[in-house]
Amino acid sequence: MEQWQQWFHEKQVERTINALKKNNFEAVFVPDSKSACEEVMKQIPDGATVGVGGSVTLGQIGLLEALGNRKIRFIWPMRQGKTPEEVLDLVRQSFSADLFLSGTNAVTEDGRLFNVDASGNRVGAMLMGPKKVIIVCGVNKIVKDIEAAEKKLKAWIAPQNAKRLGRKTPCAETGVCADCKSPDRICNIYVTLAKKPSRNEMTIILVGESLGI
Ligand code: SF4
Repeated sequence: MEQWQQWFHEKQVERTINALKKNNFEAVFVPDSKSACEEVMKQIPDGATVGVGGSVTLGQIGLLEALGNRKIRFIWPMRQGKTPEEVLDLVRQSFSADLFLSGTNAVTEDGRLFNVDASGNRVGAMLMGPKKVIIVCGVNKIVKDIEAAEKKLKAWIAPQNAKRLGRKTPCAETGVCADCKSPDRICNIYVTLAKKPSRNEMTIILVGESLGI
């Protein structure tokens, strides 16, 4: 990366971290995936109950594997091989976890988080239930504002996620959102966290790499 590009990214991260803090979130920057994984691990005490939302980012930083080696109760609903009934049961259990770990679809330069869910399991646990929420996101998730986040979601994030998850939606065929009414639609619930929710702790770990979608 050229020096001026590096400078530009650093300024964008600085604006975003400051804005998140003004909106009552804890926010930290770490340079890479390894540091992000270490940062999350040090915030989890032995014996804790830890739930996770579906997230490409958490897998990419090696966190899901690392959690399997900790002395914790690890609730991982989206792990392959579970029946739909088992998934739903684990999702419900994760609402009362000590900690909930997730990625995010976007973080804005004015310090907001933007997420879109199909069933609400991920955003539900972010908002209420777990005592502490830790969100990990790459710098590629930074957008100017909520309007930009919604545009990126429709044009870029949702079609790729639909394809990744094997959904039977128009976007998974064409790569373009058709604002479908498919039963497999993944964009049912749009949630903006304008400030930190009042009843939980929430930390955003911004990673100096491109992670997730
Ligand atoms: S509304 Fe339907 S077509 Fe559009 S991105 Fe979501 S799942 Fe895909």
